[in-house]
Amino acid sequence: MASDKVKHVFGPVPSRRLGRSLGVDLVPYKTCTFDCIYCQLGCTTDKTIDRREWVPLGDLLEDVKAALVREPDYVTLSGSGEPTLYARLGELIAGIRSMTSVPVAVLTNGSLFWKPEVRKELLQADLVVPSLDAGTERSYLQVNRPHSEVTFERLIEGLEAFGREYAGQLWL
Ligand code: SF4
Repeated sequence: MASDKVKHVFGPVPSRRLGRSLGVDLVPYKTCTFDCIYCQLGCTTDKTIDRREWVPLGDLLEDVKAALVREPDYVTLSGSGEPTLYARLGELIAGIRSMTSVPVAVLTNGSLFWKPEVRKELLQADLVVPSLDAGTERSYLQVNRPHSEVTFERLIEGLEAFGREYAGQLWL
């Protein structure tokens, strides 16, 4: 039975693409590299590219372990900000994979894929779902309102590099 003590995990919620998706929230509310004009969570309160252990890794793993009794189809790293801002993302994915055969998905805006360490950590996920909203720099700046260091060139180069390196499922 679901426990009220679980703080960083929600669901499973029904997802059209992922079935019963158990969400894991890795960063504080609206901590993101973008401030998208359409964001359903409202304005970004901490626009950053600093990767931190926002929540202790042990707490996240404990919460996921407790929630696995709810039999999700996917454990989905997403939440109320950009999940690749979590500094111990690779260890988190590895830890989840060691405790269950339920596949791990990451929903991301792809903005940090230009960082080799982010790409390396994501290689362990079963499914990565990056979003790409704009085809030109101008519309990218207008729609995503990114952190100044996440240039359009970096965004595209990162996505291309990850596409070459990743052997799992990539749904762009
Ligand atoms: S990337 Fe996602 S969480 Fe971040 S501002 Fe855009 S829609 Fe919101």
